[in-house]
Amino acid sequence: MKLAKIFKLIPLLLLPFVHHAAAAGLELQPISDKVYAIVGELSNRSPSNLGNNATFGFVVTSAGVLLVDPGGSYRGAEEIHQVIKQVTEQPVVMVINTGGQDHRWLGNDYFKRQGARIIASAAAVADQQARLQDQFIRLTGLVGEAGIEGTEPIYADETFDQRLDFMLGETRIEVYHSGQAHTPGDSYVWLPQDQVMFTGDIVYVERMLGVGSQSNSKSWIEAFEAMAAFEPRHLVPGHGKVTTLAHARKDTLGYLQFLRSAVAAFMDDGGDMSDIGSIDQSSYHYLQNHDTLAGRNAQQVFSEMEWE
Ligand SMILES: [Zn+2]
Repeated sequence: MKLAKIFKLIPLLLLPFVHHAAAAGLELQPISDKVYAIVGELSNRSPSNLGNNATFGFVVTSAGVLLVDPGGSYRGAEEIHQVIKQVTEQPVVMVINTGGQDHRWLGNDYFKRQGARIIASAAAVADQQARLQDQFIRLTGLVGEAGIEGTEPIYADETFDQRLDFMLGETRIEVYHSGQAHTPGDSYVWLPQDQVMFTGDIVYVERMLGVGSQSNSKSWIEAFEAMAAFEPRHLVPGHGKVTTLAHARKDTLGYLQFLRSAVAAFMDDGGDMSDIGSIDQSSYHYLQNHDTLAGRNAQQVFSEMEWE
């Protein structure tokens, strides 16, 4: 769908007036001399972060740069490219979309114009197509008309079902889709030579994860375990700084398991959805955004578990 058409659906009064904001709060975090994370803000999308409220990553090879997730808008993608240019003159030749969430794919068009080839799981592309209109409306409300300027939805050139392996220069890259997690098409990217895992939205650290209507908390746990079986030395999470498997287990797997057992106990006690806020999630209040997400997460898991 053309962006112009989508804009017609948005009441203009909802669009906040924004200035062209400078730098999007992206932090470069080196893991080795060729593998890097780009850590965005933990908060929601905003006019200053241009939709880049997530963690991205890239690998410099002799055949060009592999980028894991292109950012949440055209201008957000430009900001990511500026960070990459701080460490290499190599062009971005390949982009992987690790999922269907806006910050995993709405920067595709920018990098495609630079000549990059785009890869995603077939399930991620189906999710991107299904939620395109919702994502544009929501994103425009949060980053503003100037923030989303130039953003065109472009889908992957190549898709895979469960696994894709390839070499880029001397670097071996393995991409896996193990089932629905935060979104239906979430994938993780494994660099066996460097023991680095880019987890996409399968792992959140420092901030509370979001279980939405596009998520499945049960298979999210299974996808986490499939990813963790590689025992990566370094994790580039979907949200938060570069981390360890132990930390990811605590903030993501631990929280998902806690939430599911707390909701199961609540249902066993005959609890009603309207009273779901009475579930005590205080042991996870150290995670950022917990006050906006904790109740919603419990509600979503409740509706999921009614059907399990
Ligand atoms: Zn995300």
